[in-house]
Amino acid sequence: MEQLTVHFTSNDDDIIEICSKYWMLSSRGSWKSTVSEIAHFYGLPVYKLSQLVKESSYVLDSTRLCQRCSSPYMARVRSDMPISSLGVTSNKPRDFTCTKCLEADRAEQEKKKAVEQALANERIECYRAELEVRVNDLREHTTSVDVLPGYYSIVLLALIKHSGSEALEYIDPINKNSIDALTPSDQFTVELLNELQEVDIITISPRSPSESLIVTPEGEKRYYPLGVAWEVGVSMSLTDSVDLAAAYSWLNNYVSMREFRESSWGGILHLGRRVVLEEALAYLNLELGRRGFPEREGEKTIAALKEALSHFSLSQVCWIISNQLRHVSDRYRQGQSYGLPHASNQVISGISKYTERAVANQWDVTRFKRDYDQPQSVISRVIFNHILKVDDGGFYHNLDELFSQFEENNVYINNLKNGDIPF
Ligand SMILES: [Zn+2]
Repeated sequence: MEQLTVHFTSNDDDIIEICSKYWMLSSRGSWKSTVSEIAHFYGLPVYKLSQLVKESSYVLDSTRLCQRCSSPYMARVRSDMPISSLGVTSNKPRDFTCTKCLEADRAEQEKKKAVEQALANERIECYRAELEVRVNDLREHTTSVDVLPGYYSIVLLALIKHSGSEALEYIDPINKNSIDALTPSDQFTVELLNELQEVDIITISPRSPSESLIVTPEGEKRYYPLGVAWEVGVSMSLTDSVDLAAAYSWLNNYVSMREFRESSWGGILHLGRRVVLEEALAYLNLELGRRGFPEREGEKTIAALKEALSHFSLSQVCWIISNQLRHVSDRYRQGQSYGLPHASNQVISGISKYTERAVANQWDVTRFKRDYDQPQSVISRVIFNHILKVDDGGFYHNLDELFSQFEENNVYINNLKNGDIPF
C-alpha cells in the first residue's frame, strides 16, 4: 500500500514523528493505528494529539482535484479524509470544491447581494421622495378638526390613542404597539386606515421603516399597512398648519361631550355595531383556530353573528359560540362530522339555531367574561367607555338596549349634518 504524502509545518523531529505515525496506512489501506493507541503511546490526551496533528501537518490527495482550480484535496485530520475516500475502496464521486474557491463564491455572492441591496435602497429612497411630496400636499390641504364627520373623528382619535408618536407629531406603525389592538382584527384595522387615507386625513409617512416599503425592480410600489408610519392632515380651526397634539386633545375632549353624541349619533351607532360584530367574528375565529377548525368570514357567518347580536350582548354571544364549538368538537371527535370544513359549518348553523330557540323560549343566556387573548380594543374603548361612558359596554350590553338609553339622540338621526355618515 502506497503511503500518503504528508506535509509538515513544524521542524520539531518529535512532532514530525507523531504526525507520521498518525497518517500511516496499513498494508490493507486502513489506518495503521487508532488515534487513542498513538495518544497512549506518546502519553498525550487524545484531543491534544488531534490538535498537534492539525497544527503541524497536512495531507494532499493529488487523486482528488478541486473542480474549479484543480488544487489537490487537503486533509488536516483523519475525519477530513475518511479511509473510504483514499481511493482504495471508494467508488463514490470524488468531486469537491476547495475552501478557497467556496470562499471566493461566497464573496462574489455577497458582492452581488450588496449591489442588489444598494439598488433596492435607491428605489425605496425614490418612494420616500414621492411620499414626501404627498405629505406636503396633505399639509397644504388640511382638514379642520371641528368639521371632521363624527365617524372619522372616532377612528382618528382611536388611531392617535393607539399609535400616536411620543411627541404626537405623527402616527407610529400600528404593529409597533404590541400591548393594545386598535380594532378586533387586522383586516378591520386596514379597512379603517384605507378609509382615512381616501378622505385625505392620513397619508403614508416618508419616515416609515424601510422594511415596510417595497418597490419591485419593475417599479411597482407597495407597503405594509400595519408596518408604515402615517402623517395626519388635520389642523385646528383658524389655522392651516397641522397640529396633531392640539387636534388630539380637542378631539379627546369633544367626543366625550353630549354635543358630539348628538351631532354624530349615526356614526357612533354604525361604528359601535361594526366593532362589536368584528369582536364576535374575531372571537369565533380564535375559538375555531384553537380547535383546529378552518376560519370563517363569509356572508352566512356574518348574518348568523348579526342576528345573535341583535338579541344578546357580545358576552352572551361569546358563550353561544363557545358552547356550539364544544358540541361540534365532541361530535367531530366521535366521528359524527364529515371533515373539518363541515364541522366549521355546523358551528355556524348551530349558532343560528341556538339563537332562534333562545329567543323563542326567552332563555337567559349565560354571560361570558372577555377572553384573555382578546382584550378590549382601543376603538371599542373610545366608543363605549369614552363616548357612551359605559365601562366595556360593548361587551356586556345588548347594543339595541344600550343605544336606546340615548333616546334623546335618536331624533338627530333624522336631522343629521351632511356627511356625518360616510356610507
Ligand atoms: Zn479550488
